[in-house]
Amino acid sequence: MVPLTRALIKRSPEKPPSPAGSAAKSGRSFPQKESDTIRTVALAGNPNVGKSTVFNALTGLKQHTGNWPGKTVQNARGYFFHAGKEHVLFDLPGTYSLLANSAEEEIARDFICFSRPDVTVVVADATCLERSLNLVLQVREITKNTVLCVNLMDEAKKKGISVDLTRLGARLSLRAVGASARSGAGIQALLGAVAAAGEGGAGGEGATPLIDYGPELEQAVSLVEPAVTQRLGGRLDGRWAALRLLEGNESLLASLFHSLGFDLAADEQIAAALNRALAFLEESGIARDALRDRITAARVFFAESVAREVLTEANKTYRARDERIDKVLTSRLFGYPLMLLLLFFILWLTIAGANVPSALLSDALFSLMGPAKALLSAIRAPEPLIDLLVNGVYKTLAWVVSVMLPPMAIFFPLFTILEDWGYLPRVAFNLDGPFRRAGAHGKQALTTCMGFGCNACGVTGCRIIDSPRERLVAVLTNSFVPCNGRFPLLILLSTLFFAGAGGGPVPALMLTGFLVLGVSATLLSAKLLSKTLLRGVPSSFQLELPPYRLPQFGKVLVRSLLDRTIFVLGRAVGAAAPAGLLIWLLAAIKPEGVSLLIRLADFFNPFARLMGMDGYILLAFFLALPANEIVLPLILMGYTASASLSSFESMASLRALFLAHGWTNVTALCVMLFSLLHWPCATTLFTIKKETGSLKWTFVAFLLPTAWGIAVCMAVAALARVFG
Ligand code: GDP
Repeated sequence: MVPLTRALIKRSPEKPPSPAGSAAKSGRSFPQKESDTIRTVALAGNPNVGKSTVFNALTGLKQHTGNWPGKTVQNARGYFFHAGKEHVLFDLPGTYSLLANSAEEEIARDFICFSRPDVTVVVADATCLERSLNLVLQVREITKNTVLCVNLMDEAKKKGISVDLTRLGARLSLRAVGASARSGAGIQALLGAVAAAGEGGAGGEGATPLIDYGPELEQAVSLVEPAVTQRLGGRLDGRWAALRLLEGNESLLASLFHSLGFDLAADEQIAAALNRALAFLEESGIARDALRDRITAARVFFAESVAREVLTEANKTYRARDERIDKVLTSRLFGYPLMLLLLFFILWLTIAGANVPSALLSDALFSLMGPAKALLSAIRAPEPLIDLLVNGVYKTLAWVVSVMLPPMAIFFPLFTILEDWGYLPRVAFNLDGPFRRAGAHGKQALTTCMGFGCNACGVTGCRIIDSPRERLVAVLTNSFVPCNGRFPLLILLSTLFFAGAGGGPVPALMLTGFLVLGVSATLLSAKLLSKTLLRGVPSSFQLELPPYRLPQFGKVLVRSLLDRTIFVLGRAVGAAAPAGLLIWLLAAIKPEGVSLLIRLADFFNPFARLMGMDGYILLAFFLALPANEIVLPLILMGYTASASLSSFESMASLRALFLAHGWTNVTALCVMLFSLLHWPCATTLFTIKKETGSLKWTFVAFLLPTAWGIAVCMAVAALARVFG
């Protein structure tokens, strides 16, 4: 998949820590106040509540919106001007809590604590307010300058849910605003609330306690809080910090140390108070280990009581409807078959729909070759240059466009509709079991889905996995699912060699099988890694199943065509032109009468034969390292540049060209298998290096799928030789 947040968003600057000490843990630093005239606003929220949409509505910046839980892994920023003040808005990663269970939660918490935004806006989902309140309460405990934006009010209305915003605001002692960010409703009121909250000064100090944690814990807090408040000097809420000290929140203590420049727990007065409080709790029969659960339980209980007070549900049919759909889509019996059926259906539509436009497009583009040559001759361009430009570069580009564009223009919108509807988290839910049994994290099912579009994005997406071991497993095995770049080759070869007369469902079935094979290879490799290099047990996680939403078809079309199709095509064209040039040069340079291209292909030939392919094919895979999209054009260019065979001027002559080079069904199958199972492209490898920071793991990521590919292709070729 194409990067989820595009370059339109200004990334927050990585400033060095200020002398006062901003949080510089793990090399991250948190943006500080830009100037006294600019107000800083943080935007927090659970994943999938419309946070990006609110961000865009407030700042006017375009941000990609999708249905990936945990999608926003970096904070982005934008500006808006309101009530005579410039505001800078920081988009925090989508999180369910600020307990620092994951990198995202830590980022969000540290930003709110240490960058001390003037206002923190928490976006909540009106259709499941109770769940959103958990985060709202945590933010509200840190800073009293919290504005609650209850988004998706339109959805709530449709579901017969009404929210008493005045009462909600009063119960939480904050400004609560209702919004339907997608249509822009409520955004003006939100701007007003942010401006008004901004007038209240920087948050953090003296927040009114909201939640009663029970007599024992409250007594313990009262023992520690005064010393903590005094030591913090108004830089953080004392009660909140005292609670974190009591529960022994190591991650927060480390962040505090980095931010404040002193160890809170090492302060004599605080340490003494803490010991007294912990001794008191122990006497009261409350173990320290159980504190976190108690605190969470009290918060959940409070959230439930607030939700009960402010929500009126006229009818519960929508929620019940979602539950009924989920019962089928995620059931043991139907979950997998339906998943495969949907996949097959999408692939079938893609293949069936792409044939005709592909043929038309290639006819149109190839028919321009003659006039292009004539034009270049007319302006007296030298013959080798004409050959290079038309046969080397243009022809390749024409292939890439005609073979890739139609399937992508069908596949991406269909895939995006499923994504927008909310199906992908259900896929993750279904696959959670197998992934865990393979020793991997359940969330890897999601990153695998992301890799389905683009492996580099899938690898970056692995940040949503908290445990380093499981994150590495997910990174190393992401390229087992075919990215956009590999799909066209799989589609084309399955159609050319396995469709039979009159099309039929075989190519789509084959592709579905290939995807199942890719996921199986992922699981087997994860199992192998967990038993060898990366031993360990998978950790647990909570998976959010967002409500189903009717996709916005217009937006889906624009987004999938512009964001994805054009992006991938641009990449393919960008990589194909220089590769075309290289092949042309390799064919043109002929020491002792034999071209470099033929020499190289001959060199790889013996090994390639063992894998059921030939030297040109293997060479094409090597040269396509920059982008998988160009394997097929490179094979074609290798064939046509090396021998003066009949050149291919239409889709129909493609199969003839392959057959003339000795291809059989086994060759096509092996090429498809190797396309599925071989090294990741250069972009993905760079991303893996960046994410793991290790050449060793990058090498493992290169080797693992390649070893699979070589083994599987050799096995297929050997079987074909025996039985063929
Ligand atoms: P994020 O994950 O919190 O950033 O959520 P997004 O902004 O990506 O939104 C998730 C989905 O909810 C998208 O399909 C949005 O179009 C949709 N959405 C966002 N706000 C609203 C709203 O107010 N009403 C409706 N009906 N849909 C919304």
